[in-house]
Amino acid sequence: MKIALSLGGNLGDTNIAFSTAIVRLEEEGVCDICKSSIFKTKPINCPENSPDYQNMAITGSWYHSPNELLVLCKKLEQELGRDKTYIRNSPRPLDIDIILFGDEIIKTDNLTVPHIEAHRRLFVLEPLAQIAPTLIFPTFQKRVDELLKECVISFKVLSISKMKANLNFSEQVKQLPIESQERKLKYKNEKSAWASLCAEKICRSMLLDKYDDNVANQKFDIGKNGKPYFRDKIDINFNVSHSSQFATCAISPYELGIDIEDANRKANNFAQIAKRFYSSSENAFVEEYGKEGFLKIWTMKEAFVKSIGTGISIPLNQFSVPLESNQTIINNQQFFFHYVKTKQYHLSICSKVDLNVIKQNN
Ligand code: ADP
Ligand code: MG
Repeated sequence: MKIALSLGGNLGDTNIAFSTAIVRLEEEGVCDICKSSIFKTKPINCPENSPDYQNMAITGSWYHSPNELLVLCKKLEQELGRDKTYIRNSPRPLDIDIILFGDEIIKTDNLTVPHIEAHRRLFVLEPLAQIAPTLIFPTFQKRVDELLKECVISFKVLSISKMKANLNFSEQVKQLPIESQERKLKYKNEKSAWASLCAEKICRSMLLDKYDDNVANQKFDIGKNGKPYFRDKIDINFNVSHSSQFATCAISPYELGIDIEDANRKANNFAQIAKRFYSSSENAFVEEYGKEGFLKIWTMKEAFVKSIGTGISIPLNQFSVPLESNQTIINNQQFFFHYVKTKQYHLSICSKVDLNVIKQNN
């Protein structure tokens, strides 16, 4: 059976741990081993100040059961120094995960194959795509290189007035799932109804480009604070935003938030708002860069708040968005930001995972 394993480590000499593990895997019966390069990656969902990881993938052939392979992987992790009292996601010299076991789908108490998170982990897909881009994840019927391509944050921005010129409101609403129709018809203000329709249209068309009809036509649930999400497809996340002129949507395998503001938006009182809601370092930035600086921070803060959905609520002036780099730690969690400024708008995206951000053309 053709197998794919993912090796990771962030404690001690990972290169030695990897090469020793590969020798041991061969000794214990894994044949025809093919190795990827070693990739340096950032920790995800790990305790603060965790060291960077190294990751690699290997493929090989295995003629025993999946469970025997799991037992072997665990044994080698121990041999190479993994603590028995190991706390989840704490630094470790070696982690070996079974990503694929031929085209088998396995779900037992101690083994899930394909590995349950692998399809949305860059640190698994990138190395694996290097050595076996055409291997198929039987759960998605997709190739490794296809899944890798999907492992990005993509977003689109459209002008509401252009969309309005080409669309008929009631016809468009009729095409939406019934729950969405009801929400669109509840708006008292025509402008808001259009903005919301445009955002949902962009979102559904992006989903349709990327996934099958089942996903694109799924029902959106609305979270406590108004954030829409899919109830069933937990690995497809999206977020929408609109200003008075633009609607935008971003999608990603992980939770994210997006916010857009018109660049020419009236903001006479921005300095007062900044005093009230921004931290001192953010206020210093606003003093230096004026309204542009204000809007940059505003979109970043909004994107952050939207990214956490129904999670923690922190007063806006109790945390700072990163203005010198693309990442910061808020409430012990790492957040990554992507900021775009054009003549017409400011836009920020916030995610807990550092993925490539791709703007799709209209
Ligand atoms: P992680 O890999 O998530 O950092 P561990 O290596 O400690 O955490 O794995 C925890 C448990 O996950 C293992 O004891 C194992 O039984 C289970 N597990 C389920 N599916 C797999 C898989 N495909 N590969 C490896 N371990 C798996
Ligand atoms: Mg593991």
